[in-house]
Amino acid sequence: MRILVTGGAGFIGSALCRRLVLQSGHEVVNLDKLTYAANLASLDLIRDSDRAHLHHFVHGDIADVPLVTSLLQKHEIDAVIHLAAESHVDRSIDGPSVFIETNVLGTSKLLGAVTSYWNGLAVSRKANFRFLHVSTDEVFGDLPFDASLFNETTPYAPSSPYSASKAASDHLVRAWHETYGLPTIISNCSNNYGPFHFPEKLIPLVILNALEGKKLPVYGTGANVRDWLFVEDHARALELIVSKGRPGETYLIGGNSERTNLEVVQKICDLLDEYVPNTEGSTRRALISFVTDRPGHDRRYAIDASKIRAELGWSPSMTFDDGLRQTVRWFLENELWWRPIGEGTYRGDRLGKTGAAH
Ligand code: NAD
Repeated sequence: MRILVTGGAGFIGSALCRRLVLQSGHEVVNLDKLTYAANLASLDLIRDSDRAHLHHFVHGDIADVPLVTSLLQKHEIDAVIHLAAESHVDRSIDGPSVFIETNVLGTSKLLGAVTSYWNGLAVSRKANFRFLHVSTDEVFGDLPFDASLFNETTPYAPSSPYSASKAASDHLVRAWHETYGLPTIISNCSNNYGPFHFPEKLIPLVILNALEGKKLPVYGTGANVRDWLFVEDHARALELIVSKGRPGETYLIGGNSERTNLEVVQKICDLLDEYVPNTEGSTRRALISFVTDRPGHDRRYAIDASKIRAELGWSPSMTFDDGLRQTVRWFLENELWWRPIGEGTYRGDRLGKTGAAH
């Protein structure tokens, strides 16, 4: 397949590109605006492989309709997997506008460009075309601790500007299917973690702060529960959905690994104590510091993934304990990837070095 991936220099997008190109041999056009969250170094494994010719990096915006149209036509795209977004809840509270611009308006522009292209395809290519919209379980909002899991019929009730903007984009994608017949599919996934994770998110932030002996901020009492999924399991689910999922459907993807934030932070502390013990023998759990909870902080997200398991045969292959261990080891062994992020030298200069085609 020739697949247009948006946001492929981000955390999940880069894992997806590595999978599609290196494992499956698909041809990928990777459109990314290179916001602060992008990192071209996450694509080095592709650049340095003998499949580098299958990956075309394009620095650009999903809202640039002429650019998107020309990429769709030039590369005769068979499927779009849309991940480009502003993705950090805390940033959405401080500045919601860019979330609405990218996640809502950007998605509507992208849908418009893709629909025009799709309308011009020959009958068989038109029938096989797919637009997979990658969304989050946060659109379902606050799940009480004793409530049953989210599933494909759970009503939307987003709590943050981020989740509201993703909910809006999900509705647009669904409407484009109902109104224009575009073969769209929506996936809503739980919290991801793994290698190449930008260190503003909980798990990489705690790993790097703990390594440097800094405080480990935990919101409220740390009782909030998330259902953690290893990023490579998510990438595998997305590939399966784009090739075998049914248009017009939604698939929920989850790790079946509910943990409180405090449990996650404590586990990271213990792993670091095991791999790089403090010289004075103290434990890193002593660095945990509880901070005022953020507004609209949902108590719990948890996914019932039985639909994707029954229809497409997907289930997570990585346990949380193994995945977290692997992630901690990856950060210990890949300082060259994360160190430049703190120094702010990780995007443009790499683009300069590698040129626009990466
Ligand atoms: P990320 O922030 O790491 O990456 C987003 C990427 O999109 C970046 O590379 C950025 O440069 C790019 N981008 C932003 N605006 C753009 C624009 N206008 N045009 C082109 N590119 C643009 O995000 P992520 O964690 O990899 O998440 C990817 C997608 O998956 C998002 O849509 C997010 O809502 C969804 N999701 C994330 C999680 C999670 O736990 N991280 C869980 C479920 C769903």
